[in-house]
Amino acid sequence: MNNDNLNPFKIVQNQLKDVCETLGVEQEVYDILCEPQKTLEFSIPIKMDDGTTKVFKGYRCQHSNITGPFKGGIRYHQNVCLDEVKALATWMTFKVNVVGIPYGGGKGGICVNPKELSKHELERLTRGYIHAVYHFIGPDIDIPAPDVNTNGEIMAWMMDEYSKIAGYDVPAIVTGKPVEIGGSLGRTPSTGYGVALMAKMAAEKLNLQLQDLRVSVQGFGNVGSFAALTLQNLGAKVIAVTGTKGGIYCHNEKGLDIKSLMAYYKEKGTVKGFEKYTEDCDSIQSTDILGLDVDVLLPCALENVITSENASDIRAKIIVEGANGPTTIEANKILNEKGILIVPDILANAGGVTVSYFEWVQNKMGYYWTEEEVYSKLQLIMSKAFKEVCEIEKIHNVDMRTAAYMLSVRRIRESLKIRGRI
Ligand code: GLU
Repeated sequence: MNNDNLNPFKIVQNQLKDVCETLGVEQEVYDILCEPQKTLEFSIPIKMDDGTTKVFKGYRCQHSNITGPFKGGIRYHQNVCLDEVKALATWMTFKVNVVGIPYGGGKGGICVNPKELSKHELERLTRGYIHAVYHFIGPDIDIPAPDVNTNGEIMAWMMDEYSKIAGYDVPAIVTGKPVEIGGSLGRTPSTGYGVALMAKMAAEKLNLQLQDLRVSVQGFGNVGSFAALTLQNLGAKVIAVTGTKGGIYCHNEKGLDIKSLMAYYKEKGTVKGFEKYTEDCDSIQSTDILGLDVDVLLPCALENVITSENASDIRAKIIVEGANGPTTIEANKILNEKGILIVPDILANAGGVTVSYFEWVQNKMGYYWTEEEVYSKLQLIMSKAFKEVCEIEKIHNVDMRTAAYMLSVRRIRESLKIRGRI
């Protein structure tokens, strides 16, 4: 039986409480940020292909808009629930303020296993979601984006449905759209790219050479796959990847060929079985990934995967949190005691929302940037945030997670103060 606190909303409230105490900020800062400003909970009835009607539960949580419009993705997953959406929305507020982009935090979701739906059912569900939140969101109010199991195609349906109701095209209502309808170049790989960049900077901090790094990746969705690909392009060796159904491990010193693995995953929907098509590879269980002998571990799937039960098995020197909330508070303590450097989620995976910001800016200007411009601006923002977090880490002698929260809460507090809210 696991004794860790596994409620993500309680976890983020604890993290906030700790940092408010460390910073010694006014009690009001905690009181304002410990609960979301507004949360909408609704049901979405849709006609299934067989003529029956099914009802799905949907959420949109607006945590804080003190530093800009609410911003955050929409998750389609069978485990989506109110507390998860509230936690993810709260993490978004901290994330956007770590990188200093002019947004607040929000998040949404539908409790559904999208793999059980046909494409038409998925489209009707998506359009139904927009009908339910139409009066709640807006291009200057609350801007959704992709998250777990949602992608550019779904964002296109969202933008289309919103625009139909509005009576004119509103591209800035969602980010993560396909480039043909106003998406930004580089948005799809941006979260994984940012994770890889943070891994590179963490390695440099420990004086490790990128060429010598052995990397393992948990989760091979949008984040994990592009993080792996970018690190491989930078010279590191990705030796293991797992998904929900199983994983693969590579014995040779070259590591896995991530491009071929991505092509395989696209076709099969899993990395399992790839060992049959490539040399020096074995299949492993999904749970084996955490204990492997690697330098860098990238948890890029869901919350609560690193717990007090498995934290002591971890042999990596660096963990870069591609997922939101992958480490429980209890596990975090164990990892800190082991001296593992953790680049926390609110910094590590901020590349996605940063390029979402670029997309929104481009939509508003009606002028579009080259891929090089997007990447160079992303690099500037993320490396600046990494350095700022390291500075606080050093001055206050805290871990990187605490330092990232300190940076973020300090910025939010400044806005609250200047706006006369406290
Ligand atoms: N869902 C992503 C995240 O957790 C992206 C959010 C966005 O682009 O607004 O950061």
